[in-house]
Amino acid sequence: HIPVLCIDGPTASGKGTVAALLAQRLGYHFLDSGAMYRIAALAALRAGLTIAEVHEARIAELARQLPVRFEGARVLLGADDVSDAIRTEDAGMNASRVSALPAVRQALVALQHGFRRLPGLVADGRDMGTVIFPDAPLKVFLTASAQQRAERRYNQLISKGFCANIADLRADLEARDARDSTRSVAPMQPAQDALLLDNSHLTIEQTVEQVLAWWQE
Ligand code: C5P
Repeated sequence: HIPVLCIDGPTASGKGTVAALLAQRLGYHFLDSGAMYRIAALAALRAGLTIAEVHEARIAELARQLPVRFEGARVLLGADDVSDAIRTEDAGMNASRVSALPAVRQALVALQHGFRRLPGLVADGRDMGTVIFPDAPLKVFLTASAQQRAERRYNQLISKGFCANIADLRADLEARDARDSTRSVAPMQPAQDALLLDNSHLTIEQTVEQVLAWWQE
């Protein structure tokens, strides 16, 4: 039985960084499921589709055959390196829209299950513990206050040379959270057996240590 450690939580909670570090420490594979939704949205837009219910079936078809490859930190869509294109705020908002379409979520299930390989997997997302890997032995729901998350996103953007504004970022991430937690399929919520971890006042390293302590229990 291949072990899976799920890290779910809202946007900018630090779960991506924490999950990647955990995978590194444990020597496990890493699934960034958010990247799949980001790529599906990008593929749809590039195919000339708007991200709307009227195109749900066609976007799902694209998602089912997504020619995506993860090579270290690089993400490839076909021959294109889309690593930067999928990380913008717009790409995140588009991913959130596309992820509310049930047929698209369904289309990405098999792709996500395929990441469960020996010796194990750390899976990062919104519904890893509730929908994709409900039998996972450890599910963590990672949160932080909206203000903290907005400040972290701000610092990330500024360090990459982008302009940003904390109030706007906070409004955007609250809008995304609201959509993610109220959609009809796989709304973002902790699994019943998830352990909650609020890392508003923890460093990344402290957060990783706490999860590792739970994992080794
Ligand atoms: O985690 P990330 O910000 O990359 O996710 C982008 C969007 O993809 C989220 O806002 C959410 O709407 C969607 N998503 C999802 N289910 C997942 C991972 C991401 O619906 N497992």
